[in-house]
Amino acid sequence: MDLVEYQGKQLLAAHGIAVPHGRVADTAEEAVARADEVGYPVVVKAQVQVGGRGKAGGIQLARGAEKVRTSSRSMLHRPLKGHVVRRVWVEEASAPKLEYYVSITFDRAAKLHLIMVSARGGIDIEEVAADDPGAIARLHVDPLDGLDGASVVDLVERAGLDPSLTDQVAAVILALWSAYEDGDAELIEVNPLAVTADGRLMALDAKVSLDDSAAFRHPEWDEWRANEALDERERRARHKGLNYIGLAGTVGIIGNGAGLVMSTLDVVNQVGGTAANFLDIGGGAGADIVAAALEVVNSDPNVRAILVNIFGGITRGDLVAEGIVEALNRVSLRSPIIVRLDGTNAEEGRAILAEHASDRLLSEPTMEAAARRAVKVAGGSAR
Ligand code: GDP
Ligand code: MN
Repeated sequence: MDLVEYQGKQLLAAHGIAVPHGRVADTAEEAVARADEVGYPVVVKAQVQVGGRGKAGGIQLARGAEKVRTSSRSMLHRPLKGHVVRRVWVEEASAPKLEYYVSITFDRAAKLHLIMVSARGGIDIEEVAADDPGAIARLHVDPLDGLDGASVVDLVERAGLDPSLTDQVAAVILALWSAYEDGDAELIEVNPLAVTADGRLMALDAKVSLDDSAAFRHPEWDEWRANEALDERERRARHKGLNYIGLAGTVGIIGNGAGLVMSTLDVVNQVGGTAANFLDIGGGAGADIVAAALEVVNSDPNVRAILVNIFGGITRGDLVAEGIVEALNRVSLRSPIIVRLDGTNAEEGRAILAEHASDRLLSEPTMEAAARRAVKVAGGSAR
């Protein structure tokens, strides 16, 4: 089980590591109320199990209530790097003087635990490893021996941090070790471990994965798990290996390629509609995948029209069209489908669709025309 940031911070705090004071919120109004309690300025952080949120707009500084409201609205119920944001974390803003990196994980190849420390925190450790591997100090730990203080101090000294902070960083690593060992974690990564202006250490981010096979001895995990509960539609899609995110609108959307699906969502919005989901069928678009995608979208009671937007590259338009026709025979859809096919073998594909055209299967030549049609079919007034 992967924890979201605020859950990871709860685990760290329980082991005595300093974290910024913060509160969770599920709506923009709640976020404002929580920010008022925490005190401005705050940082609004999207709670999704993925790194690099900062660059993707998932971390925003707010000096007042209005900015908390707009930041939360820009994050909640929208996909961020392929994960829909259901919750934000509102925490006191900090102005780090330095950003370090610390992690503990299991190195399967070495069959040993691995602790890594770097003075170059705040950016992806993969990036550091690629352009300056010497900037990461490593320590392997035998699970049978455990960790001793002297090795930790040596590790910290090798990492080239501010020498006046050696003891503090070593103490954080020992606390992380107990969170990792006693907490049955498989990974704990603190990036950044911030050095505040007054020289204290604080975990500004926490990425934690727990070992599911140890769940029986951790009743306290139940609460974290409950918060993670997936939407029923997402569960169904995940089961079929589809990349699906449930949203609140009425136009079901199926496309190939994340970029194309995102722009389809935007175009549907632009012409006055609302998307019911994000569903990327990827490169393969045979009848099985198309049928599975249609089934998932069809299981959403809010859907009034299904927009299928395929740009053939490696995926051939004629095969997609055959897939759609075959899928229609297998799945009984509640809503009409509107198809836009372009790219490789699009003409052959459109000819196949034309043969089977009905008021349940419509075809449009462009993304915009298809979006307009879908919005109308869904009962909206397309702009
Ligand atoms: P990630 O991008 O998903 O790993 O999210 P992080 O929580 O690590 O935040 C990314 C970056 O945003 C950090 O390295 C910091 O530079 C910055 N950041 C996060 N929280 C704060 C904060 O409270 N104050 C300031 N000034 N920067 C922050
Ligand atoms: Mn981070």
